[in-house]
Amino acid sequence: MSFIQCPYCQSTHVRQTDSGNAHVNYFEQLQRCISPTQMAMFGMQVARKSGFSPLFGAAVGVVVGGVLVVVSQYYFEKYYSNAEQYVCLDCQQPFAWVKQ
Ligand SMILES: [Zn+2]
Repeated sequence: MSFIQCPYCQSTHVRQTDSGNAHVNYFEQLQRCISPTQMAMFGMQVARKSGFSPLFGAAVGVVVGGVLVVVSQYYFEKYYSNAEQYVCLDCQQPFAWVKQ
């Protein structure tokens, strides 16, 4: 029997949850943080300061934002492919536990 502890309060009162939902939530949040519009705005601001064309900056921003999402998705899948989702029954914090 493996020993699983809550990383927030060190409690051992944890319960395994469905891992599918966590993935969806994570990417919804990520895509809300790194939206193409926001990255385009960011690129335009940087371009204006560095003397490049704002359109060029917007294009670069969208590409960089897209790469960030894909790369983090790759590492997320790689890291969590053998992880299980748990929720702490004491502090109600969800967390992932990677099997050794
Ligand atoms: Zn806890």
